[in-house]
Amino acid sequence: MSTEKELHSRSGSKCELCSSSEDLAIYEVPPESNGSAEQSVLICNTCKEQIENPESVDANHWRCLNDSMWSQVHAVQVMAWRMLTRLSREGWPQDLLDMLYLDDDTLTWAKATGEGQSDEDQNDLTTIKHLDSNGAVLEAGDTVTLIKDLNVKGANFTAKRGTAVRGISLVADNSKQIEGRVNGQQIVILTQFVKKSN
Ligand SMILES: [Zn+2]
Repeated sequence: MSTEKELHSRSGSKCELCSSSEDLAIYEVPPESNGSAEQSVLICNTCKEQIENPESVDANHWRCLNDSMWSQVHAVQVMAWRMLTRLSREGWPQDLLDMLYLDDDTLTWAKATGEGQSDEDQNDLTTIKHLDSNGAVLEAGDTVTLIKDLNVKGANFTAKRGTAVRGISLVADNSKQIEGRVNGQQIVILTQFVKKSN
């Protein structure tokens, strides 16, 4: 049986979130659906638009989760958990979330898209700060000044103290290094040897 047929038979040809029977389509549950019915839901266009556009969410539409969150289908539980989490500040979704039980694997799946993590939380995990010799935060595109003569390894010159390096880039996985052009060559510079210019 095709995934689509399987989903129609599982849902009775209704949106598995809000029970609408209009504009139904397969929605492969992010982040990594294998396209099977187990990892997909059949949902209507209204649900899909709101899932994909967090700005346009109409909280009242999602009162439907009051019923659909009790589905035995894990993919439906995952989508219910994510939307309730997204709307939890409204109050009632948090009450539903408190009642919604997901087994460990399903909960891990539900959390896999980062729903419910604030931008700050994510920044804490992924961002490292590049600081100059004075502790000022460096950003890509900044201009910095060298605070000492640097012998550039592999190139036959010394980058002189006081040299301005414009349009630096940050070495993503090393907070102690930036890159910039000196004497027409792209070189790696240690952040401790630069001062941010204003
Ligand atoms: Zn729907």
